[in-house]
Amino acid sequence: VRATVFHGPGDIRIEEVPDPRIEAGTDAIVKVVHAGICGSDLWKYKGSSQFEPGGRIGHEFVGVVMEVGREVTSVRAGDVVAAGFMYSDGTCEFCRHGLTTSCLNGGFWGGKSGDGGQGEAVRVPLADGTLVKVPLDATDPRMAGVLALTDVMSTGYHAARSARVEPGSTVAVIGDGAVGLCGVLAARLLGAERIILASRNEARAAIGRQFGATDVIPGRGEEAVDEIRALTCGLGPHAVLECVGTADSLRTATESVRPGGAVGYVGAPQHADALNNIRSLFSRNITLSGGLAPARTYLPTLLDEVLAGRLDPSPVFDHRVGLAEVPDAYRAMNDRVVLKALVSP
Ligand SMILES: [Zn+2]
Repeated sequence: VRATVFHGPGDIRIEEVPDPRIEAGTDAIVKVVHAGICGSDLWKYKGSSQFEPGGRIGHEFVGVVMEVGREVTSVRAGDVVAAGFMYSDGTCEFCRHGLTTSCLNGGFWGGKSGDGGQGEAVRVPLADGTLVKVPLDATDPRMAGVLALTDVMSTGYHAARSARVEPGSTVAVIGDGAVGLCGVLAARLLGAERIILASRNEARAAIGRQFGATDVIPGRGEEAVDEIRALTCGLGPHAVLECVGTADSLRTATESVRPGGAVGYVGAPQHADALNNIRSLFSRNITLSGGLAPARTYLPTLLDEVLAGRLDPSPVFDHRVGLAEVPDAYRAMNDRVVLKALVSP
């Protein structure tokens, strides 16, 4: 099969790789229908996060089961399925408490020893825990929305849940990437009354408004804090969703939230010392919650919303390509010409 292989910063190639095959009784082989290119793939592309050259890349995919190992009971050949951005057994101490990203037997897709999502087919470990059956035809246009649930939409939802968004909440979202925009959708889904999105990109702000943002502010840093305060009678929002991962965005989030409020942080921290205002959080009783989103736990709930027509995150995919154009799509996302690419191998 053909798959995307990472050769170093700026060097992504499509190559012929060995066909995936069942290695353990708990495996399944999935033919990929759609895969996503993620902002965190770009960190590798830019060279700002470590990734072994020669490793397979991609952790967002939906597809059709081709074959299952003899221990797999929840899916069978022909089933349309989605997976979270990590695999997990669904049975360990952490999975049973919904924290599938800390699964004792789980792990990340891709690298030197595993298959990545950006390819024609993937060996799925721990298939019973990892895969969610999707009651749609593989060609259904809603599959793009389902693909978003595998990472960005679940991550935005984790930010909103962690920030304790509830009906009537005033929410600010820091970050206008796919996760931030999904954070807007999640806030609306949870009943937020007012949603302030920080964005200075017209196209992204437009998607944000379509997703439910009631206000868009152009500021960053101190300016953004002032603008968010000004829009909330000087009090600050109940909940702030931090969807970038820089020191600056975490500071903007924690400084703009109201006393007693909560910040849901889901931007992968790009700086070890991002949180340098702990005294300010202490004095204002700020809750900081979030982290690596347990997408697999949220998938069934969010899938129901998509199937019911109440949730459609698919507009975050503003570019659709085949496998051969994946290297170009990385470049376009890196140049910020494209928000998020959907790959149909
Ligand atoms: Zn587990």
